[in-house]
Amino acid sequence: MITRLKVSTQARVELRDITAQVEEAVKASGVKGGLCYVFVPHTTAGILINENADPDVGRDILAQLERMVPERGSYSHREGNAPAHVKACLVGSSQVLPVEEGRLVLGTWQGIFLCEFDGPRQRTVMVKVLGDRG
Ligand code: ZN
Repeated sequence: MITRLKVSTQARVELRDITAQVEEAVKASGVKGGLCYVFVPHTTAGILINENADPDVGRDILAQLERMVPERGSYSHREGNAPAHVKACLVGSSQVLPVEEGRLVLGTWQGIFLCEFDGPRQRTVMVKVLGDRG
């Protein structure tokens, strides 16, 4: 079974903490030990793992991505969202996390984020948990 999380983003560019929803999917899977695969089936969004304690970290990540891939630049893609595609490439579209004792293994300060680069819009995040139920 693959869980599909629906996430409504609120801004053109934002990091949305989805750790609790992914944890919920792990719990629902019944898997006690294994791996959790988190994938976003979009070309202008990404998945990253980083600090979710201090929101300034997320702000710095987005600001630095903006410096690297400015909104206004010389792009060929005519849809007008070329920077969003490039940022999505830099972040990547998936992450794999360990599952132990029925829970996600994350460091104290780590969280899972959906990265919106061309919002606001409705996004889907797919979660597949593989492993042993015993
Ligand atoms: Zn496009």
